Amino acid sequence: MTRLDDHAAIVTGASSGIGLAIAEAMADAGAAVAINYHSHPEPAETLVGTIRERGGRAIAVKADVSKEKDVIRLFDEACSEFGRVDILVANAGIQKDAAIADMSLADWNTVIELNLTGEFLCAREAVRRFRRQPAEGRPARSAGAIVAMSSVHEIIPWAGHVNYASAKGGIRMLTRSLAQEVAGEGIRVNAIAPGAIQTPINKEAWDSEESLEKLLQLIPYARIGQPEDIARAAVWLASDEADYITGTTLFVDGGMALYPGFRDNG
Ligand code: NAD
Repeated sequence: MTRLDDHAAIVTGASSGIGLAIAEAMADAGAAVAINYHSHPEPAETLVGTIRERGGRAIAVKADVSKEKDVIRLFDEACSEFGRVDILVANAGIQKDAAIADMSLADWNTVIELNLTGEFLCAREAVRRFRRQPAEGRPARSAGAIVAMSSVHEIIPWAGHVNYASAKGGIRMLTRSLAQEVAGEGIRVNAIAPGAIQTPINKEAWDSEESLEKLLQLIPYARIGQPEDIARAAVWLASDEADYITGTTLFVDGGMALYPGFRDNG
């Protein structure tokens, strides 16, 4: 089993869905975890309680990751509680969908500011902190690991979601460019591209039999993904088992990015 003992991790957007599952999996693997939430403290605080009952270390930190000051404070609080930070999972993200002619500038900006600028702010702060930490006493082979939460829409175009797809396409190049920039310092930067995962963000795609059936046509592996599918991948990608992997996107999508439309029409 992958272990993250003595590591300290920050997981953003961790009060629901994928982020919540990643925070729990990181703690189960032995990491101390800063669980970031934006507006609903209860799930984050409940998870803190569960982790502590199991003998782990966790704190809940309120922060809007699209705000520079909030991101710096999030890292300050994690570092002051755990003494260090070794892993960032920049997971927070939202959708504000509309056809292009109906998309307001506010909806464009909100998605880009959270999904892309938020990734930049968190990754920049992580690199600054990783650099300050001495090499001796590190729990990992790397000097720090960043896992960005992308999407299959970093490569699959998505009509009616140009703000979201543009942000995820941006994450792809942010990940690869940053990985190239900091690899010489031993910092690893990767992304995960989930396919369709059963969370609140895409409820309308799975909450009726009809919509779920339509969705499954896009998933060769023939089931909707669960947050734990992503959590296992995040723990592994952040761990020494993934040492030497940097600048890549790991697709965890049941084959959604394999052009499933060609399966029956080849
Ligand atoms: P979710 O809605 O359950 O989680 C999103 C999280 O982001 C929430 O906890 C929310 O509180 C948080 N958040 C929103 N605004 C924030 C802000 N300003 N600052 C900090 N946190 C904020 O949805 P999810 O499916 O768990 O999504 C998590 C990530 O996975 C997102 O980046 C999403 O784009 C990505 N993703 C999800 C799917 C899927 O099918 N569910 C697929 C591909 C990618």
